[in-house]
Amino acid sequence: MHILLTNDDGISAPGLAAMYRELVFLGEVAVVAPESVESASAHAITINAPLAVQELHVHNEFHGHAVSGRPVDCVKLALQMLVSQPVDLVVSGINDGANVGINVLYSGTVAAAAEGALMGVPAVAVSLARGEELDFARAARIARGIIKAMLDRGIRPGMLLNVNIPNFEHGDPKGVWVVPQSVQIMDDHYVSHEGPDGVRQYWLHGKYGPVSRTEQTDLRALLDGHVVVTPLQFDLTAREVIEEVRRWDWPAVE
Ligand code: MN
Repeated sequence: MHILLTNDDGISAPGLAAMYRELVFLGEVAVVAPESVESASAHAITINAPLAVQELHVHNEFHGHAVSGRPVDCVKLALQMLVSQPVDLVVSGINDGANVGINVLYSGTVAAAAEGALMGVPAVAVSLARGEELDFARAARIARGIIKAMLDRGIRPGMLLNVNIPNFEHGDPKGVWVVPQSVQIMDDHYVSHEGPDGVRQYWLHGKYGPVSRTEQTDLRALLDGHVVVTPLQFDLTAREVIEEVRRWDWPAVE
């Protein structure tokens, strides 16, 4: 089993190291990750500059490639150029912070896994919710069990599974829930300051407002202390709308 491990928090992030230490029990692990923090880069790629790649000994513990690009760049480059063996599984994480609800759209962690899935490799994104107990070692042990179960049950090429682990501050996580992604909008706002050079600056502050207690979504399940698994797909076509739009009176085009 050849596993590609990446993330969006950068190659030195503790979440990636913790995941590495567990994935080695499942197979041979190649690490290709951004050289710096690339959170919220979604599915961005680098097209106006070359990608510099440095081989590193990360934390004096494992070998990895640090890429001067985005998480998706790392997966593309790894699968096409840097990893010589066929990759059986792409793992992205463990991200510092949950990737549930509409954060899935902004997430570089999820996008890196999605790129693996688009390239025909089974892929898993793993994130740990923020809180008082940011225990990546424990989250990685849980993630390894989840990934092992996915492999045993038949995760297929092109399949993308988004895994979120609750913070341990409220105790042990409850069981695994497989639920859809919430599309609840975030209750975010900008805080504005005048910068030292007189230029106005805006900082984005994001949080969720009240979350429905009855809807079974990733957001609710995580708040309730479950480990959450959501299968994702990246066909953005709104199939239930396509017939209606087809029937509109379209102008002749010359
Ligand atoms: Mn991140």
